[in-house]
Amino acid sequence: MSALLETLVARITRTGPLSVAEFMTDCLLHPEHGYYTTRDPLGAAGDFTTAPEISQMFGELVGLWLAQVWMDQGRPAPVVLAELGPGRGTLMADALRATRAVPGFHEAARLHLVEVSPALRTRQTQALAGWDITFHAHLAELPEGPLFLVANEFFDALPIRQFRRGKTGWHECQIGAVEGRLVWGLGPETRFEMLDDRLAETRAGQIVEVNTPALPLAGDIGTRIASHGGAALIIDYGDAVSLGDTVQALRGHAPVDPLTCPGAADLTAHVAFAPLARAAAPAIASAPTPQGMFLERLGITTRAQALARSLGGATLEAHVAAHRRLTHPEEMGTLFKAMALTPPGAPPPPGLDPATDATDEDKTPR
Ligand code: SAH
Repeated sequence: MSALLETLVARITRTGPLSVAEFMTDCLLHPEHGYYTTRDPLGAAGDFTTAPEISQMFGELVGLWLAQVWMDQGRPAPVVLAELGPGRGTLMADALRATRAVPGFHEAARLHLVEVSPALRTRQTQALAGWDITFHAHLAELPEGPLFLVANEFFDALPIRQFRRGKTGWHECQIGAVEGRLVWGLGPETRFEMLDDRLAETRAGQIVEVNTPALPLAGDIGTRIASHGGAALIIDYGDAVSLGDTVQALRGHAPVDPLTCPGAADLTAHVAFAPLARAAAPAIASAPTPQGMFLERLGITTRAQALARSLGGATLEAHVAAHRRLTHPEEMGTLFKAMALTPPGAPPPPGLDPATDATDEDKTPR
């Protein structure tokens, strides 16, 4: 039995079943055995890959997006340039390389990375050699000031709670232990006030998820941006509202049962963007815009063609495949969404659809 499995079974035997959020927190962030605590999970040899690891074009376009929004807001200086969960630092390194020629942007930027994983902090320091980095464990530690922030595949790694609809209330989905194994269970049917607005749109037996830590984070980002200026770009897989069980465990790029290998597989859940948008008020949220459309509008095809000119053979094929992977509706193009937060009254950010009623969570999904 793995060390974390043993720890979890002992904890459940001692104090009762865990919520999905408690389980995810231990699996991902346990100080000794947590998935992110112990490894660099990205890349071909790891468990999953992400847009910035697929192609340099992703970080380059995000960097130019940030610089454009910074120019649109009158080139404030100094600014906090922040990333949540920067992985291997690839996105930020590509973003900074692409914006070298933007007058004043690098001089204005103070680089702040929010990262819990010691292994990944080391990778980020290497990728961003030459930059003065301030690391934080929490967003709340960022200094005040205009904030230009990016978060790619960060919110999907935050622990969610799951609830199954009963007749009039909800059962929380829980993880118990039987004979040394982890098993799914349900808590008693109760009213959860935070789910009152989902009663009308769900039927008995359906599952809903709540990303509890994401809402205060979005609130903090929104307040900072509305009061000091700046912008946030949140990119993740998900939709305006989530419905159903979206918890996914990945190991070696293949789905696995989340209960069998705690701490050894990546665990994520779809991001619901509408609750984030609402929590970020008074900042203005764009609509969650499909990633493929966002990247096309920022000019990924022109950039792809420029890069292709110096490539040939297998590297050219890989480059074409990477472009497709980032943008095609059957790959990451539609499943992933980008959403921006900007101050009230600021020019609309490039590449994103303006918010419509569809972003409003009051709208019933499907
Ligand atoms: N943005 C990167 C990595 C995504 S993986 C990319 O696109 O490649 C998720 C990242 O978030 C990792 O860097 C992980 O260590 C970090 N992370 C996960 N949970 C976190 C938390 N609660 N606080 C800070 N960082 C976290």
